[in-house]
Amino acid sequence: MPFVAALSSPSAGAPLEPTTIETRALRDDDVCIDVKFAGICHSDIHQVREEWGSAIFPMVPGHEIAGVVSEVGSGVTRYKVGDRVGVGCMVDSCGECEFCKDGEEQFCAKGSVATYNGRGYDGEETKGGYSQQVVVSERFAVRIPEALELDVAAPLLCAGITTYTPLKRWDAGPGRKVAVIGLGGLGHMAVKIAAAMGAEVTVLSRTLAKKEDGLALGARSYGATEDADALAGLAKSFDVIINTVSANLPMDTYLRLLRPLGVLVNVGLPSDAWTVSPGSLVGGSRVLAGSNIGGIPATQEMLDFCAQHGIGSEIETISAEAVNEAYDRVVAGDVRYRFVIDTATIAVA
Ligand code: NAP
Ligand code: ZN
Repeated sequence: MPFVAALSSPSAGAPLEPTTIETRALRDDDVCIDVKFAGICHSDIHQVREEWGSAIFPMVPGHEIAGVVSEVGSGVTRYKVGDRVGVGCMVDSCGECEFCKDGEEQFCAKGSVATYNGRGYDGEETKGGYSQQVVVSERFAVRIPEALELDVAAPLLCAGITTYTPLKRWDAGPGRKVAVIGLGGLGHMAVKIAAAMGAEVTVLSRTLAKKEDGLALGARSYGATEDADALAGLAKSFDVIINTVSANLPMDTYLRLLRPLGVLVNVGLPSDAWTVSPGSLVGGSRVLAGSNIGGIPATQEMLDFCAQHGIGSEIETISAEAVNEAYDRVVAGDVRYRFVIDTATIAVA
């Protein structure tokens, strides 16, 4: 089994450090991917810091993976060596339950296998994309269109699909007013995608510091959530609100911004519980919803949509040695708008 250079966190909250890991021997349906770029999702930080409960260490995070196929198993039909591919948050599912058959593998009845901090059906711990190679079943690789460079495509594998799915499900499009709370990795993709779908987009960020960026990304207007009066002035304004914030928010305040029948879709995953007053929902027959990434067919559809509309992520490419500092900067909200690790810089320990 080949050894490859990777970045690994030895224990909960410990800094990432270069190491070598073993990738599995290719199965018939596996592709080996030379990872070129790996995005840093806030979920990586939640898991490395064990904010979602007990995690598996040592951990190689990374579920925004873009690279090139370097080897294929004997039964692989979809990809050949040299193809540009991506891998997102899942690397296996049963393939037989109603959800898998519908291309909603994230809801697999047997439990989909997470790209890292998970266990395959063989019991082996999974390792993610902060690595120079990953081996996955071809069923969980998607094709990155030629129109997208690999670095700006990497974050689409999580931030892109996580925002595309609810925007499509809740009909973001012409004539619909969409607000995006939090202008980070997911938030900036939500703005770009909703604008490309034809919706009228408003960014709700803590301050106006990123206003110019938000408008350049496609938003029509921009509000500061720390300004209580400004927020109150937006009451009953939106058909759809996508909440991408990684920390707790006063939900009632934001539910009030929905028009009757509107929906607030939560994709942020802080660890604490919210409180919600029933009246905030009942009054306008509003919907409070959640959304979990998206299936493999939708991920391919999202990539094709982004290629067609010229949408990539806004990135800051970093070398492996800057990854721990980048984590702190993400938590501090100091990212415009996704850090992407150039995996060629991972020095073998
Ligand atoms: P991110 O880049 O850190 O963006 C989060 C944004 O939330 C920040 O840019 C900031 O926006 C705002 N924010 C941060 N702390 C805040 C606070 N204390 N109060 C108010 N606003 C705050 O994170 P991300 O990678 O986009 O991920 C966002 C969340 O989505 C994470 O919890 C992540 O785990 C989750 N996630 C969920 C899924 C899913 O399938 N549902 C998939 C991926 C990630 P402003 O500076 O503009 O205010
Ligand atoms: Zn993610």
